Amino acid sequence: MSLDAVTLLYLVASVCFIQALKGLSNPKSARLGNAFGMAGMAIAMLTTIALIAARAATLGSNLSLGMGLIVVALLIGGSIGSVVAARVEMTKMPELIAAMHSLIGLAAVCIAYAVVSEPSAFGLETMLPVGNRIELFVGTFIGAITFSGSVIAFGKLSGKYRFRLFQGAPVVYPAQHLINLILALAIVALGVAFVLTRAWAPFIAMTLIALAFGILIIIPIGGADMPVVVSMLNSYSGWAASGIGFSLDNPMLIIAGSLVGSSGAILSYIMCRAMNRSFFSVILGGFGAQAATAGAAAREERPVKSGSADDAAFLLGNAESVVIVPGYGLAVARAQHALKELTDKLSGKGVDVRYAIHPVAGRMPGHMNVLLAEAEVAYDQVFEMDDINPEFGQTDVVLVLGANDVVNPAARTDPQSPIAGMPILEAYKARTVIVNKRSMASGYAGLDNELFYMDKTMMVFADAKKVIENITKALD
Ligand code: NDP
Repeated sequence: MSLDAVTLLYLVASVCFIQALKGLSNPKSARLGNAFGMAGMAIAMLTTIALIAARAATLGSNLSLGMGLIVVALLIGGSIGSVVAARVEMTKMPELIAAMHSLIGLAAVCIAYAVVSEPSAFGLETMLPVGNRIELFVGTFIGAITFSGSVIAFGKLSGKYRFRLFQGAPVVYPAQHLINLILALAIVALGVAFVLTRAWAPFIAMTLIALAFGILIIIPIGGADMPVVVSMLNSYSGWAASGIGFSLDNPMLIIAGSLVGSSGAILSYIMCRAMNRSFFSVILGGFGAQAATAGAAAREERPVKSGSADDAAFLLGNAESVVIVPGYGLAVARAQHALKELTDKLSGKGVDVRYAIHPVAGRMPGHMNVLLAEAEVAYDQVFEMDDINPEFGQTDVVLVLGANDVVNPAARTDPQSPIAGMPILEAYKARTVIVNKRSMASGYAGLDNELFYMDKTMMVFADAKKVIENITKALD
């Protein structure tokens, strides 16, 4: 295969990846975006395999074992990936993404170790030029942090493991920032030593410290800051891949890695802005710790007004305008299709129904948009936070379904609240608010919610799907 053909195919794959990102930025074009991504990845992989085969043929080496291993790896990885992706529930997506990121980080570390131990096998000079040493050192550092950090994020997001470091609550420890600073300085010193000597010792020591560093920077982060962590690790995994792309002199890996790295960084920035917090305060940790403690202290027994699905149906059926606020609980209950049926019925009765989407509702960016798209809700009924917030004041009924933090007025009214300043959906401004959840338990940030105690609020306690189905029945 000629180099011109390889460059052209890599260019086509890169354009596919850019189209994929563009497509994924809107639910309407997301499927097409996915198709572009898959096509780009197929072209990139096949071209790289063909390139390896061509190089080996020129050198006269026997390729059958290497190619056999690649095919076996593709089959095993592809099968596991397809089964896991087909089975995963939408609410478990963030932990799956965290697990995938950890594999990218691990792959970057493994490749870097292979290159350092045998540079000639990768077409590099045996003594590894200084530039390559720097790239490999940085790539391994980022890869190791991505690996261990993602493993912790996976544990925290899954919430299934008893291990202290995997608990959702943040782990804070004394002199946290000082320890991180010392480790960072040690990494720089080891980097200088590796670049000057190409000795294994500083390289291995750096890998071990980077693995510890990944754990230490993620464990103090908890509560409502987790979305940013997932997208930040996404960005790291891209940069790790890109760093290795430089060492392997593979432009495709550099481009794909940079796209993932920069889009992840932009997403982290957008999410920080959506939560009104600075990127560095999130990354340096501690916010979630306050959230958990403040939430525990604030929760107390207070009376709330509660009603049945029939009561909710009466209010909704007699309203002129209704705004639905979907949250994590709706996803857990898998109630999106039932919800579509309910809103169709309300629309049929002449009620103006709209959906309000908070940028961090659910457990991953775009979670609610995906749910509603799955149920084929019309896109023109779905409104982003900034567009719907001015409308709440003129809305008859807001129906909050399994959402909590994203409608918590404390973000506006309590400067001491851990979520102070985070933009919220202003459901509390509507004439009547119906909140469906199963109990008075707090949401992800561990906070009590003043909205539930307001005079205009009626709580309907039960699983979201059941409540929605009962409301729909009661509307007949
Ligand atoms: P919350 O986690 O604040 O609240 C969800 C509510 O749903 C809970 O209070 C729970 O109450 C209720 N619930 C759970 N299961 C059911 C069910 N089967 N039926 C009815 N209700 C149910 O969710 P929000 O969507 O309001 O907020 C998202 C939070 O998650 C934010 O803090 C955000 O920062 C964080 N986050 C967001 C990510 C993202 O990228 N979008 C990623 C990770 C975290 P009860 O138990 O009483 O039923």
